[in-house]
Amino acid sequence: MTIFSKILAGEIPCHRVHEDDHVLAFLDIGPLSRGHLLLIPREEKATLGELSDDSAAALGRVLPRLCRAVCAATGAPACNVLQNNGAEAGQVVMHVHFHIIPRFPDREQGAGLRVEWRAGELDGDAAELAEAITAAMT
Ligand code: 5GP
Repeated sequence: MTIFSKILAGEIPCHRVHEDDHVLAFLDIGPLSRGHLLLIPREEKATLGELSDDSAAALGRVLPRLCRAVCAATGAPACNVLQNNGAEAGQVVMHVHFHIIPRFPDREQGAGLRVEWRAGELDGDAAELAEAITAAMT
């Protein structure tokens, strides 16, 4: 049980943007830019890999609509969709959530988000690696 369960139950207030039988979207209390949204499933699972197909489908169905809506409402030409999946990935609230973070041409308007992307090189075991991942899919 996390703070998001209390938000879902209405025990803690939030600014609701969208909800259906499976999901809720609301404004992040600590926005990285204007319009920063959180999208969560009603299902209480910590990480994406634990979610039911129904919850996953509902999240996937609404994500593009939320991206369009938040960009239209804020005038942002772009957004980042970020999903911290597990503590090592920076997840703090252990209830699955997607961040939708509008990005603006003026870098200062999105100054709360910095993505460091230090690309490596795909090495010799790429074929085996791809096969191993395929084989591990359930
Ligand atoms: P994480 O680091 O787990 O990916 O992100 C958790 C997010 O939840 C943070 O961006 C944080 O601001 C947001 N958050 C935490 N508590 C609350 C709350 O009570 N209300 C709302 N609206 N957002 C919250």
